[in-house]
Amino acid sequence: MRAWMLRKDQNGEFSCQLEALDQSQLGDEGVLVDVAYSTINYKDGLAMMNLSPVVRTWPMIAGIDFAGTIAEGPNAGQAVVVNGHGMGETRMGALASQARVPADWLITIPQPLEPLHAMAIGTAGYTAMLCVHVLEDQGLTPDKGPILVTGATGGVGSFATLLLAKKGFEVWASTGKASEADFLKGLGASQIIDRSELSEKGRPLGKERWAGAVDSVGSHTLANALAQTQYGGSIAACGLAQGFDLPATVMPFILRGVSLVGVDSVQAPREKRLRAWQSLAELLTPAEIEAMVELRPMSQALKAAEDIMANSYKGRVVIDIKAD
Ligand code: NDP
Repeated sequence: MRAWMLRKDQNGEFSCQLEALDQSQLGDEGVLVDVAYSTINYKDGLAMMNLSPVVRTWPMIAGIDFAGTIAEGPNAGQAVVVNGHGMGETRMGALASQARVPADWLITIPQPLEPLHAMAIGTAGYTAMLCVHVLEDQGLTPDKGPILVTGATGGVGSFATLLLAKKGFEVWASTGKASEADFLKGLGASQIIDRSELSEKGRPLGKERWAGAVDSVGSHTLANALAQTQYGGSIAACGLAQGFDLPATVMPFILRGVSLVGVDSVQAPREKRLRAWQSLAELLTPAEIEAMVELRPMSQALKAAEDIMANSYKGRVVIDIKAD
């Protein structure tokens, strides 16, 4: 098998290389899966470029999500997807021809989706779905008002835009890429907001502009999103693309009853995962997903990681594990 290995030598020197490995290095616990596809998330970019301490155990196979088929046992051939659970951080990761994971991590890919679709959705789409479920569980419905999506051309943001629009919400997409307005409108956004409107220090409370938000950006952007959320609204916060700080005041909470709900995809319980994947299969068609995908061969995974950190692509990059 081959895998993207992240290593630190005795001098603390970091390396990230595509290596040939013996399958025994995966250990013998858990279910063996033939990985067909992985993807490159922001966290993969951080790990593969050693930009933040994502990896906790060395050496480590990179990659936080994969889709493939069970390789052995009574369920051999079943199409499965795995996200998070510390893969690529504390557990051997996904950018490898094979992976061994506990049985209860495996989510059967709901029809009509196939492994390519599941990885095109990937952690980003699945996290976006978790965020949409949070807003709905908070009581938001399309008639309550528009929903802001920040980091809209990113993996989470583009799926949040598409999923919310499919559910009938009016989506306001905040982006730093004015040139991608047509892409965002194609996903279903009805208004495009220049992210500079939200990314600088703002007032504790502003005009009430949206009923809720999916925020993958954090920092001033999240503070401003809160300050402009209408009475009783809710924000699902899942990311830190601008920063992990939250320079906000309590005013939106105590004067407008605004709720801020955190979303974690890594340790999300199985029921939430099953609900998210089922909703994704119901809302998205295979053709729609295929239109969002850029397929790259295994050898290009590091380049894709560099690209995501340079913020130089939109939508989804899927790594074809078997392609050179
Ligand atoms: P991407 O890099 O694909 O998207 C991030 C987007 O944020 C960019 O496309 C850009 O969108 C915007 N952005 C980038 N830099 C800045 C900046 N300095 N200020 C404001 N906006 C910026 O990443 P993902 O969508 O994969 O992930 C987004 C975030 O969500 C990350 O922080 C990631 O760690 C987090 N995440 C968290 C998960 C969880 O479980 N909680 C799961 C998955 C992701 P645009 O150009 O359109 O403005």
